[in-house]
Amino acid sequence: MLLARLAQVSREVAAASARSRKIALLAELFREAEADDVPIVIPYLAGRLPQGRLGVGWKVLGRRVAPAAGPSLTVREVDARLGELGKVSGPGSQTERTRIVGELMGTATEDEQRFLLGLLTGEVRQGALDAVAVEGLAGATGAPAADVRRAVMLAGSLQTVARALLADGPAALARFRLTVGRPVLPMLAHSASSVAEAVDKLGACAVEEKLDGIRVQVHRDGDTVRVHTRTLDDITDRLPEVTTAALALPGERFILDGEVISFGADGRPRSFQETAGRVGSRLDVATAAEAVPVSPVFFDALSVSDRDLLDLPFTERHAELARLVPEPMRVRRAVVSGPEEVGRAEDFLEKTLERGHEGVVVKALDAPYSAGRRGASWLKVKPVHTLDLVVLAAEWGHGRRTGRLSNLHLGARTADGGFAMLGKTFKGMTDAMLAWQTERLRELAVEEKGWGVVVRPGLVVEIAYDGLQRSTRYPAGVTLRFARVVRYREDKRPEEADTVETLLAAHPEVRP
Ligand code: AMP
Repeated sequence: MLLARLAQVSREVAAASARSRKIALLAELFREAEADDVPIVIPYLAGRLPQGRLGVGWKVLGRRVAPAAGPSLTVREVDARLGELGKVSGPGSQTERTRIVGELMGTATEDEQRFLLGLLTGEVRQGALDAVAVEGLAGATGAPAADVRRAVMLAGSLQTVARALLADGPAALARFRLTVGRPVLPMLAHSASSVAEAVDKLGACAVEEKLDGIRVQVHRDGDTVRVHTRTLDDITDRLPEVTTAALALPGERFILDGEVISFGADGRPRSFQETAGRVGSRLDVATAAEAVPVSPVFFDALSVSDRDLLDLPFTERHAELARLVPEPMRVRRAVVSGPEEVGRAEDFLEKTLERGHEGVVVKALDAPYSAGRRGASWLKVKPVHTLDLVVLAAEWGHGRRTGRLSNLHLGARTADGGFAMLGKTFKGMTDAMLAWQTERLRELAVEEKGWGVVVRPGLVVEIAYDGLQRSTRYPAGVTLRFARVVRYREDKRPEEADTVETLLAAHPEVRP
């Protein structure tokens, strides 16, 4: 396929507002494409490079090269050139990159040059393209869109399915069955602001504890166990405990979904960083496992004894899970019939938090497993923590916020009457708030710096955050995760702000 044709369709798809028109354009393009073109065409349409980022800077891309008079480049030639570009390294690489890009641009028409530039700079990203491409593929090949979607979900790659479909037609979809040993993308959750909201939306549901560990998909085929992360990396060798646990289960072939987490001697979960550090370390697994042992805790079953459970309602998948996995190795849960039992759901959340976990995931009992998707049938609820902190300094904003004091340095009170900085945030501010705080903080300024102002600690601000994280950068040894402004608390004096001590007491999980 010619790059010129792809560039044209890419432009037309971006300009079309109706989804049906986008699908029709893509279906036409896929009908013209050869099977080997699609693994390139699909990422290019979405504005992605199959090679990932190539690290070509403006120094190389900024040079103008006279365009070719007519189109001759094929997408496969472009892909091969960019492949070469990705391999360039070492001394003289800048010259070599300039040469390759120059040659490529010299064979491209003006229109193609524009397309290539967008691709290389990452500026033509079309985020929602994959879903439209699935329907385009269905249109081009006559396969039902739902079947294509399921195959993509199971293959974990649109390109792989597209190539098979174009080469062999709809019959190729049968190859993409759920298979033990072949990981699929895990189902993801949306957020709800409260348990009541989640139960209201879902009706009959299971309220499960949300463990702050690492997601794992465990495949067992006889004596072989493989453990995959959420991004499908194989981490089997790093987690011998999971293999041992899977081999102890009374089933020969299965795929289970769960979380690994490390519990302390007191049975409470250790901090996320400890579990993540353990899972991330490849060196000396035995020593790491002794220091920070991890346990798998399962919440779903995707396949048992070669029976694909994905389309079954959660109740049935869970029944399979319960047959296979003993209770201590499953997440705790409460099943509620709907909003009339919301009190029980709330009690469960409270107990879960008391046990040191971060929240709950509320799951519709009748929903199938939507691999790789943020289905609306799993809703996570984490209590929002808020703190009253004192603004210690503020940095000048950029872009739309130029001339405004934006990024706030936040402090909590210390035992000696001072303030310890806990982190920064520029999130959650309305325009009115930005204007107001710029004026107010200028009044409080005690020192002008190039980057902003240091202020007298006089202004209290309510900050929402998701949790604490250890940090060597800040004096209290911790920093806030996802801090954002809720409102200013002019009704509070700095002496009434929260203290480092109360903060640490509320988060025993970050205690050293
Ligand atoms: P988040 O990473 O905040 O989007 O939350 C979703 C993640 O929570 C999942 O990917 C899992 O790793 C984790 N998780 C912990 N407990 C559960 C559970 N009971 N059900 C589903 N996901 C869970």
